[in-house]
Amino acid sequence: MTAAGEAHAPGARGPAGTIPLAVPNIGDLERRYVLEAVESGFVSSVGPFVSEFERRFAERVGSRHAIACSTGTAAIHVGLLLLGVGRDDDVFCSDFTFVGSVNPIAYCGARPVLVDAETTTWNLDPVLLAAELDRRAVAGEAQPRVVEVVHVLGQPADMEPLMDACDRHGIPVLEDAAESLGATWTGGRYAGRHTGTVGRIGCFSFNGNKIATTGGGGMIVTDDDDLAARARHLTTQAKVPDVGYLHDEVGYNYRLTNLAAGLGLAQLERLDEFVAAKHRIAARYDEAFADLPLVRPPRVAGLDATYWLYSVLVPETDGRGRDELLAHVGDVGVGARALWRPLHAQPPFLTAPVLGGTVGDGLFSRGVSLPCATDLTDADQQRVVDAVRGFFA
Ligand SMILES: *Cc1c(COP(=O)(O)O)cnc(C)c1O
Repeated sequence: MTAAGEAHAPGARGPAGTIPLAVPNIGDLERRYVLEAVESGFVSSVGPFVSEFERRFAERVGSRHAIACSTGTAAIHVGLLLLGVGRDDDVFCSDFTFVGSVNPIAYCGARPVLVDAETTTWNLDPVLLAAELDRRAVAGEAQPRVVEVVHVLGQPADMEPLMDACDRHGIPVLEDAAESLGATWTGGRYAGRHTGTVGRIGCFSFNGNKIATTGGGGMIVTDDDDLAARARHLTTQAKVPDVGYLHDEVGYNYRLTNLAAGLGLAQLERLDEFVAAKHRIAARYDEAFADLPLVRPPRVAGLDATYWLYSVLVPETDGRGRDELLAHVGDVGVGARALWRPLHAQPPFLTAPVLGGTVGDGLFSRGVSLPCATDLTDADQQRVVDAVRGFFA
C-alpha cells in the first residue's frame, strides 16, 4: 500500500510495481543545489539557500515576507502563536482536512471548533461560519481568536464570504495552504492572488507528497513586517543578538536547513512545470471518466486549482462503493487512497465542537485519490484509467 508522504526513489514503483499516489519529482537541478549545499559546508539552518528560497518563494506567491520552517505543521503552530492564540482560546478550523491543520491548535492549548465543508470546493463552509460568528456576536459570547481556512487538495476556498464574515467581527484568518502551492483565484475580489496571501498569515508545506518538496519543510508568508520579524524570532529559539546566549521567551527550533532549502529552491524553479503536469493529469482523468457515475473534482469559476491530489467521489451502488473500488484498483497495482476521515471523527478531537459535519462525512465515505505524481507517465495513467473503468464495467 502506497501512502501519501511515504518516501520513494524518484520514479520508483511501490511494492510489487504499484503506481504511487504522489511522490517527489527530483531531477538534476535538485541534485546540483543539494550537492552545492553539502560542498559549501552550510548544511544546517544558516546558509545562502535558506534566504534565497524565502526571497524567491515570497516573490512567487506575491507576499512581502516568507519565513522557512522545518515542517508545515511547525509553520501553522508559529502562525497561530503570531496571531495571539493561547490557552482556552477557540480557533475555528476546517473539519475536512489532514490532521496537520488541527494539531497545532492543540499545541497552543486552544480549543478547535470544527467547521464542515461545503459541496462546491470541499472547503470550509462560509455560510456555517458566518452564522456562528453572527450568533456569538448577538449572544455576547467570545469570538474565536483565529479562523483557520484550509485549501484542500489544491482547491482554493470560497474566500470572499469567509473574509467578509471574519472582517465583520475583527477575526484574523490563517490560511493553511499546505496543499495549494500554485493555486490562485482568477476572478472576483482576489483575482490574481495566490492562496495563502489573502489572510493575515499563510502556511505552506514541503512534505514529500506535496507539489514541491524539501524532504520536510514549511513556509510562513505574511505582508506584516512585525509578524514576519516575530516569526523569525520564534522559529530560532527566540535568540536575541548578544555576546552570550540570550533568549527572551520560549522559542522553537523550527528553522529549515540550508540542505533542505537547496532542494526547495530547485523545486520552486520547477513549480510551473509541476502545476502544468497536475493540470494535464487532471484533464486526462476528467475526460476518461466523463461517462462514469463518479463525481469528479470541482471545477469552479474564478478558482485555478492545482489538483494536488486528483480525487473522485464514488457512488454507493449495489453495495459497492469506495472500499470496493480501492480494493479493485489496488489488486492491479494502482496506489489509490481514501480521503481523510474528518477531524470530528479523529480520537483526539472527538469532544471538539462541530458545526455541521455531514458533508465531510460524505467526502470521506466516498472519496478516493488517484495516482497523480507530476512524473506519472501516460502509460501508467492509462493503467489507472483502465483499472477504474474496469470497476464500473
Ligand atoms: C501536509 C499538510 C500539513 C502539514 O504539513 P507537514 O509539512 O507535513 O507538517 C498541514 N495541513 C495540511 C492541509 C496538509 O496537507
